[in-house]
Order: sequence, then structure tokens, then C-alpha cells
Amino acid sequence: MKEASNDHQLDFKNRRALVTGAGKGIGREIAVQLHQFNAQVVAVARTESDLKALKDEIGCETIIAELGDPAEAKRAAEEAGDIDLLVNNAAIAILQPFLKTTVEAWDATMAVNLRAIVIISQIVAARMIARSVRGSIVNISSMARFQALRDHAAYCASKAGLDQLTAVMAVELGEHGIRVNAVNPTVVLTEMGKRAWSDPAKGGPMLARIPLGRFAECEDIASVVCFLLSDAAGMLNGLALPIDGGFHTT
Ligand code: NAP
Repeated sequence: MKEASNDHQLDFKNRRALVTGAGKGIGREIAVQLHQFNAQVVAVARTESDLKALKDEIGCETIIAELGDPAEAKRAAEEAGDIDLLVNNAAIAILQPFLKTTVEAWDATMAVNLRAIVIISQIVAARMIARSVRGSIVNISSMARFQALRDHAAYCASKAGLDQLTAVMAVELGEHGIRVNAVNPTVVLTEMGKRAWSDPAKGGPMLARIPLGRFAECEDIASVVCFLLSDAAGMLNGLALPIDGGFHTT
């Protein structure tokens, strides 16, 4: 039987954590919190200046990559080396009405929001299995998986796909002691969030349905992700966990 512990402080000492989309927003905060809990962070993004600023702050390793390109996604995962904790956070949202959704926007969305996650997770998980590491993977999904959002056809479809991908990964990788979970945040006013929700005509009705009366902050998401990555969540596998202040109950 597992021994009970009174030490609730997360500690990722000697663990290497790969965070995609760590240059801005939610991914950046996840990288910062992982560092605060002693993880060695490897940060992936496109914008060099963002990665430099993060490196200056937390001393992480950085990899510049365009994850929409499968060869780049493969290179990034291979360059990251041996990884114990993986956060698939990078995503794009191209807002178009359904009738105007272009093939280009659809393909670009699926390439970043789904295909890159498959490529990176295959490489990282195979190395975990080869090293007999009982690792943990968190995929950043969205409430857009449960909610039909106007102008978000490709994005909503990608996040619904991601939750089901997470479930299949949880089944197949679970046999190797690797846990895979998703989180489904409500609006966070990052650059991506502002583009879709800063107009009060759009954001107001959304906010009104959140019982806690506020949008989420990057910190709200990062703290849950760190918990899911930790041994404290050792029996959580295959979740799609809303982080939405109770929105899903309304
Ligand atoms: P963000 O502010 O737009 O930041 C996204 C990060 O991902 C940036 O560092 C960006 O790098 C990187 N990225 C995007 N596309 C990339 C690509 N093709 N290759 C490499 N890096 C790429 O987004 P966010 O709001 O923090 O969102 C983070 C995650 O949370 C996403 O999965 C999103 O779907 C999810 N989410 C967000 C909200 C919200 O309201 N904000 C709500 C629910 C779920 P560059 O800037 O260098 O391109």
C-alpha cells in the first residue's frame, strides 16, 4: 500500500518537463510554475524574444519550432531529449464563421492543435517507456470541446478531437504507467483569449454564465496542470477536466 504523506508541496526535482507554446499566456505560466516546483523546463515556441525572456527568468532550455510543420514538431521532440512530464499547450484559433471556414485555416488548426500533439507525444512517450519512466502528460484542451462557439468550427472540432485523443492515449500509455489527462479551461484573457472575448458583446454573456463571476487567470490553469503532472494525481488518467468556475453546470 502507498504510504500517506503530509507533504502537499509539489516537487518535480530531477524531472524534465517539456512545455509547448511556453512563450506566452497559459504555457508561459505553466513553465514558470513547473520551475518554481524544481522541474527542469524545456520550452518550445515560435517567437525567439519570448523564449529569451523566459530563459532569462527561469533558466530553462529553449527550442524554437513551428509545430504546424510535422518535421519541426519531430525535431523539437527529439531535441528535448529525455522528458518525464509533457504539457501539450501550443494551439491556434483562427476565427471564421462556419460557412466561410477555409481549407487553409482548417488544415493549419488541425496541424498545430492535433497533429503536432500526436507527433510529440509519440516520441516523448516512446522514450519514457524505453526508460521505464512512469511519466505524466497533460493536454490543454478547452471548454470549446463542450460548448459550440460561433466562429470556432475548426477550433472546437480540434479540441473535441484532442479530448478523445487524450482518452485513447490514456488507455494505451496507461499500460506503461504513463498518465494522460486533458484540462478544459474557460476564457483566459491571453492574446488568444482577448481576440475572441474582449468585446463585451461577446465576453459579457460568457462571463454571466460563470458562477464564480470571473474569467480564469493563467495561474488558475497552471496550478491544476502542475497537480495533474504530479504524483499526487497518481490515480487520475483519461480526464477532460473543466477549469471554468462552474460554467459547465449552468
Ligand atoms: P497564446 O496566448 O496565443 O499563446 C500560445 C503560445 O503557443 C505562444 O507561445 C505561441 O508561440 C505558441 N504557439 C502557437 N502556435 C504555435 C506553433 N505553430 N508552433 C509553436 N508554437 C506555437 O494562447 P493561450 O491563450 O495561452 O492558449 C494556450 C492553450 O490554452 C491553447 O491550447 C488554447 O487552445 C488553450 N485555451 C485557451 C483559452 C483562452 O481563453 N485563452 C481557453 C481555453 C483553452 P508564438 O507566439 O511564438 O506563435
